[in-house]
Amino acid sequence: APVSYDVVVVGSGGAGLAAAIQAHDDGARVVIIEKMPTIGGNTIKASVGMNAAETRYQRLKGIEDSKELFYEETLKGGKFKNNPVLLREFVEQAPGAIDWLTDKGIELCDITITGGMSIDRTHRPEDRSAVGGFLISGLVKNVNQRNIEVLLETSVAEILFENGAVSGVKVVDEYNDSRILNAKSVIVATGGFSANREMVVKYRPELDGFVTTNHKGATGSGIAMLQKIGADTVDMGEIQIHPTVEQTTSYLISEAIRGGGAILVSQAGKRFFNEMETRDKVSAEIIALPEKSAWIMFDEQVRLNNKAADEYIAKGFVISAPTPHELAVKLNMDQETLQTTLNRYNQFVEQQNDEDFGRKTALRHPLNHGPYYAIRIAPGVHHTMGGVTINTDTAVLDAQKQVIPGAWAAGEVVGGIHGANRIGGNAVADIIIFGIKAGRNAAALALG
Ligand code: ADP
Repeated sequence: APVSYDVVVVGSGGAGLAAAIQAHDDGARVVIIEKMPTIGGNTIKASVGMNAAETRYQRLKGIEDSKELFYEETLKGGKFKNNPVLLREFVEQAPGAIDWLTDKGIELCDITITGGMSIDRTHRPEDRSAVGGFLISGLVKNVNQRNIEVLLETSVAEILFENGAVSGVKVVDEYNDSRILNAKSVIVATGGFSANREMVVKYRPELDGFVTTNHKGATGSGIAMLQKIGADTVDMGEIQIHPTVEQTTSYLISEAIRGGGAILVSQAGKRFFNEMETRDKVSAEIIALPEKSAWIMFDEQVRLNNKAADEYIAKGFVISAPTPHELAVKLNMDQETLQTTLNRYNQFVEQQNDEDFGRKTALRHPLNHGPYYAIRIAPGVHHTMGGVTINTDTAVLDAQKQVIPGAWAAGEVVGGIHGANRIGGNAVADIIIFGIKAGRNAAALALG
């Protein structure tokens, strides 16, 4: 006999876990279905942090910010393609989502900045480590404390639809056995499709051959399942390539390194662009270089301020040397050119004015403390901005913009919030903000 729940959550990334916790706390019987053998989805790889404006942590640090500015900068970064209603809701709910995490024992109290933003509003763990692992372990702890059921290595193969509403899901387990789970609410939090080469190339043929930063489970299955019950999609061709990916391992080099003061240098030993521009623009400039790759370069002071840097050193990505000259030799780069580049950049930091490329943020300190470090990077497929359409309640919409009763979606599976280019730090905000909402509304519907 089929098992019944109030709410089935598909996917155990940040959106799914937040949704499950909220739905449980609102009184619903919840199950989380995850096709991979481990919890955390692609969220566990999130590096830089969670954007929010007008938060308690910004106030504590004396950072003046406004939701309005956050809205405008996200819209500009998204090339004005963002869904304005969803984006407004996003900036409005962001500080509340930071507080929701704090209440769950997940404190993002250090603050940095990402490309396309003018103000420090990227919240991260106090020890400045990557946000993904910290967030997932905190959420999993909350899931366990509540005894919320999690089925691993189990895929949702189909969303069931009867008499004009969602009625449950069909799941397939690791032994290929399938069964039905009944539920009035199904929250689809299956993430994006960056790891589905065929789907990426279908929408963007020129991305054939690019590496991806995503985990294997980012296949876009949730989009297809929702389309089958009538969901509409938006912006499917808007696929973000991240500029700084280590190519032999597809490992993402966090934007926090540039936010902490690193620069990008070409094989010719020169800076070539404003490193703090949005991801699409920085990626395009790297691809335009003759070698289609670049070096992310920093000094000891930047390393000390970013825990991730030590991780990259441990992984063997980093070439280091006590002086710029010795570094240039190791990189097969002209010594004088590199020294001139560093001197010139350091002068821009002193005067807080980048005369060459107009970098306005993260001119943190001169790069003059050895050792010096460099990582070879090039762009990789990183985030799919497109996805299914929802309203501000996270209810999935059909082509007539009508709600599909019982179908909810949150996180990267949703399209429209980020427009044509997602800002670093906005994905974690998205999954938590809309994950909480999905959990609340899905529980309310199921509990009637
Ligand atoms: P978000 O950032 O939106 O929360 P993530 O990529 O972090 O998304 O997490 C999505 C999760 O959903 C991944 O762990 C992925 O393996 C899982 N997933 C994707 N499709 C299915 C499916 N059909 N059934 C169960 N789990 C799925």
